[in-house]
Amino acid sequence: MFHINNKVPQTGTTIFSTMSALAQQLNALNLSQGFPNFAPPPSLIQALQDATAQGYNQYPLGDGLPALREQVCQIFKQRNPQLNLDPNQEVTITSGATIALHCAIQAFIQAGDEVIVFDPSYDSYAPSIALVGAKAIHVHLQAPHFSVDWQKVKDAISPKTRMIIVNTPHNPTGAIWSKQDWFNLIEIIEKHNIMVLSDEVYEHLVFDQKQHYSALDFPKLRDRSMVVGSFGKSFHVTGWKTGYCTASPKIMQAFRQVYQFASFCGVAPVQVALSQFMQQHPEHLAQLASFYQAKRDLFLQGLKEARFTYTTSQGTYFQTLDYSQIQPHLNDVEMCQYLAEQHKIVAIPLSAFYKKPPQQLRLLRFCFAKQNSTLQHATEILATC
Ligand code: PMP
Ligand code: GLN
Repeated sequence: MFHINNKVPQTGTTIFSTMSALAQQLNALNLSQGFPNFAPPPSLIQALQDATAQGYNQYPLGDGLPALREQVCQIFKQRNPQLNLDPNQEVTITSGATIALHCAIQAFIQAGDEVIVFDPSYDSYAPSIALVGAKAIHVHLQAPHFSVDWQKVKDAISPKTRMIIVNTPHNPTGAIWSKQDWFNLIEIIEKHNIMVLSDEVYEHLVFDQKQHYSALDFPKLRDRSMVVGSFGKSFHVTGWKTGYCTASPKIMQAFRQVYQFASFCGVAPVQVALSQFMQQHPEHLAQLASFYQAKRDLFLQGLKEARFTYTTSQGTYFQTLDYSQIQPHLNDVEMCQYLAEQHKIVAIPLSAFYKKPPQQLRLLRFCFAKQNSTLQHATEILATC
């Protein structure tokens, strides 16, 4: 008898696909899955057309187009002039951030190891950890600011801990790590054999003059960290699925050994287009934070009369809203369903980012990477709830 051995029987469809499908089915406003509903810069689209017409249609180098790797080094250097990454040995362009995160875990985590993740956490981390037979140790961040309780991190470390996954700016809460957070992390893991996998896909989306600190900014973390980024978020092209991983040469070598068999390489013309656009339009990244901050502010301004309460998002393109003054008896999944059916607006329940959600969780995540008219429409709806 043939028997299917499903390695991931408990894993359902991601909440992002589920909620976007619900929005489509109900013809509702979709502020759930994180993607812009506006066009990327026209010259970036043109650059992609040119790249295919000019013949960049075969496999690029597995490690990624050298010119794009160089641009990644420039991003880090601009933020931190002391950081001189080697584009040949320390950067790999990947088919999106998700596969980079997955390969980073595959390359270094063995069956039986433990990996610390902060809940609420991005939904790909735990399944990637489970697929290598390791165990995710979920440490809760502290509402309402979703800060780290460092004593809890200390308590979560065991002789089996091999990695800690950091995500700043943080999806879904919009919290960002301060320098002090990184110092606290260093103090705790310094004496242990623990790597840092730092998911920094929203690195350019930091608001109110605050600063993004990368794991690579801290010399004590340089030789134990991988940083993952995504061009999808930074250039309004989530569907181009192009990201990167950076790490010191020894770590990068092991990462590449895995990545070459997961994907081998990324998409050639996309890499050409992105590198050309980045060279010609440095203002794009420079203006990105203020571009999204204006959208966040428009969204929050529109909620002045609403009964939702909130902690202002410091980064990413997400804002969480607390609905305890509206429908306190509904859990967040029920509240999403209610909003979708009764008010034709779709969000993501925060519980989807937890292994064990706190009982009284009354938060929903809204994506504000939307046209201003969409945001206005959304706040008009939310003000009536
Ligand atoms: N990490 C986080 C925190 C994200 O929000 C996303 C969203 N897409 C990803 C990783 C994956 O990025 P990509 O689409 O480039 O795979
Ligand atoms: N990162 C996006 C989000 O958080 C979605 C990515 C996906 O759909 N896998 O909404």
